[in-house]
Amino acid sequence: MILCSACLLGIKCNYRGEDNLNLKVLKLLEHEILIPVCPEQLGGLPTPRESSEIIGDGYMVLDGKAKVVTFSGKDVTSNFVRGAEETLRIAKLYGITSAIFKQGSPSCGNGKVYDGTFSKRLVSGDGVTTALLKRNAIKIVSEEEV
Ligand code: SF4
Repeated sequence: MILCSACLLGIKCNYRGEDNLNLKVLKLLEHEILIPVCPEQLGGLPTPRESSEIIGDGYMVLDGKAKVVTFSGKDVTSNFVRGAEETLRIAKLYGITSAIFKQGSPSCGNGKVYDGTFSKRLVSGDGVTTALLKRNAIKIVSEEEV
C-alpha cells in the first residue's frame, strides 16, 4: 500500500475545491493500492479554502520556527501540523512506508514549495506533511517522479 495525495486521484479537495488529477498516478491503481489522504482537510481546514504558503519550510514549521499563513494573513500553522500528524497516523495504521505526494503544496510538496510571498515562486523545501513523514522514515515521491 502507498499513501497518495487525494487530489492526484481526482478527489476535489484542493484549495479551489477542485482536483489535481494525474493520469499516471491513477493508472498505478491497476496494480497498487493507493490510500488517498488530504492533510489540509485532515487538519480541519474547509474546502474550498484560502491558499496558504509556508514562511520557511516544513521542517521549520514542525520545529515551531516558521508559520503557514493564508493569502489574507491568517495563521493556519496548527491546522497544517495537525494534518501532518493525522496523515502519519494513517500511515502507521496501515504500515505504509512510501507515499506519492503533490509537488509544490505547503502540505504535500516534495523538494519544492512556494516561497511565502504568494507570487507563484517555487523554492527548495518540503511541505509540512512531507517533512513529518520523512522524519518517520517514509519515502516520498512527487507525481513528477512517477
Ligand atoms: S493538501 Fe495535499 S492532498 Fe490536499 S489538496 Fe493539497 S496537495 Fe492535494
